[in-house]
Amino acid sequence: MDIDKLKKLQEEVNAGRGITCVKYIINCLENNEIEQAQKVYQWDGDKIRAYPFVQQWFNENMGCRTHLKMNCQDALCITLNKYNEQRINNSRP
Ligand SMILES: [Zn+2]
Repeated sequence: MDIDKLKKLQEEVNAGRGITCVKYIINCLENNEIEQAQKVYQWDGDKIRAYPFVQQWFNENMGCRTHLKMNCQDALCITLNKYNEQRINNSRP
C-alpha cells in the first residue's frame, strides 16, 4: 500500500488543503490501524468521491467503499468504478 502516493494525491486537491477524512485515514494506516482506516473510509467515503484520483487510490488499495473488495462485481460498485474512470479520463488533456 503506497501511503506516500495517497498523501501526495490528497495534498493536490481542495486548493492544497487536502481532505480531512483522508488525512485521518493516512494517520490510521501509518499506525497500522487498518480496521479503523476502513471504518472511516466507509463512514466518510462520500467526501472522497468528489476527487477521482484519490478515489482511484482507494479502489486499488482498499477496494470498494461498500464491501471493501478489490474488483468488486456488485452492480452498484461496477457503476461507481466506471463513473470514476470516466471522470479521470475526462480530466486528461
Ligand atoms: Zn462492492
